Amino acid sequence: MRRVTIFGATGSIGQNTIDLIARDPDGFEVVALTGGRNVAKLAEDAIRLNAEVAVTAFDDALPELRERLAGSGIEAAGGTGAILEAADRPADWIMSGIVGAAGLEPGLRAMAQGTTLALANKESLVCAGALVLDTAKTHAATLLPVDSEHSAVFQALVGEDMSAVERVIVTASGGSFRDWPEEKLARATLAEASNHPNWAMGQRITIDSASLFNKAMELIEAREFFGLRPDQIEAVIHPESLIHALVGFRDGALMAHIGPPDMRHAIGYALNWPDRRALPVHRLNLVEIGQLTFRDPNEDRHPALRLAREVMEAGGLTGAAFCAAKDRALDGFIAGEIGFLEMAAVVETVLDRIAPQLPREMTLDTVRGTIAEAHRLADTVIGDRVAAE
Ligand code: NAD
Ligand code: MG
Repeated sequence: MRRVTIFGATGSIGQNTIDLIARDPDGFEVVALTGGRNVAKLAEDAIRLNAEVAVTAFDDALPELRERLAGSGIEAAGGTGAILEAADRPADWIMSGIVGAAGLEPGLRAMAQGTTLALANKESLVCAGALVLDTAKTHAATLLPVDSEHSAVFQALVGEDMSAVERVIVTASGGSFRDWPEEKLARATLAEASNHPNWAMGQRITIDSASLFNKAMELIEAREFFGLRPDQIEAVIHPESLIHALVGFRDGALMAHIGPPDMRHAIGYALNWPDRRALPVHRLNLVEIGQLTFRDPNEDRHPALRLAREVMEAGGLTGAAFCAAKDRALDGFIAGEIGFLEMAAVVETVLDRIAPQLPREMTLDTVRGTIAEAHRLADTVIGDRVAAE
């Protein structure tokens, strides 16, 4: 029996993880499930999987969670502190599936018990790459990638020497607007941006896919995870979303990872690693697929990719500022305060303003401080834009 905890259990990654675990009730013992406001789902899954504890991130949602778990013998807890405490409960495998920078600290705390952390939360490496990797090293924790592109690279690297790697190419579907003319993008609505052509994911990452901010985050994530130089990482638009990433070696070989767009593959790989076990994913029929196509990502059309390159070059806490500014810009777009193309403009302005004042040292405190300052700056920039309209 393996003891597992799922952070962000009610989200898209969390539900896919639960789907796999629920298929093997004798294989897993569920320690903690955490969620946010969807307390009904959290309680339902906690009962179904007989978890030890269910935790909502929000104090004010705790009474309802308690009520729903009454008589089940399952503990209920609420608040950010309770999420961190859940990370202390001994577990063999922990899914980091919270969305946003809020996923960083639970992951760090989980690694402190020297466990295996399956990292779906890309913000952790974007905000605090060095800190995350150092924490894993200090506590002999195993860090496994779950983002499909990074899982693909990880799989292509099995048995390979990193010194033989020339480059890594991550693919991008191009998101909801890949076939839109550029002049139409400024008027893209929330509903249009929330509809992904290939993947079913949470709303925030779906919008980030349309703006290519998701790919921008993934370039930075790849740099951190695999210890690459910025010039070794590229993105290419691949509308079919079947090749997830490619690794180019110094002998000219390109190893591509091909699979259906189903996150249960990458999650299952991390769950079974280093073994490969059967997974309930669709088997591709290459003849039916017929062809795979690729397009230039065009950094003029997608400023997020250009910004990612600048962030990778700058390194350090620039990633935390980028991630936090992007999160606020996304909030602004979701709230209807700024337009689709303004998100990149907000992030760029925040990065320009924050650059001279970024601390050099990366600690949890400086990461937190940078995130708070980038949030404050982004709110100001968004406020100024709203006032100017
Ligand atoms: P989601 O919005 O579907 O779910 C997010 C989860 O985090 C929910 O359980 C929610 O309750 C919880 N949460 C939200 N705010 C929180 C907070 N402040 N504190 C604690 N918990 C909080 O998101 P998702 O699509 O599952 O994505 C999760 C992470 O995985 C993101 O970092 C995303 O970029 C990454 N990711 C997702 C996919 C995917 O297929 N969905 C693929 C690759 C990477
Ligand atoms: Mg991805």
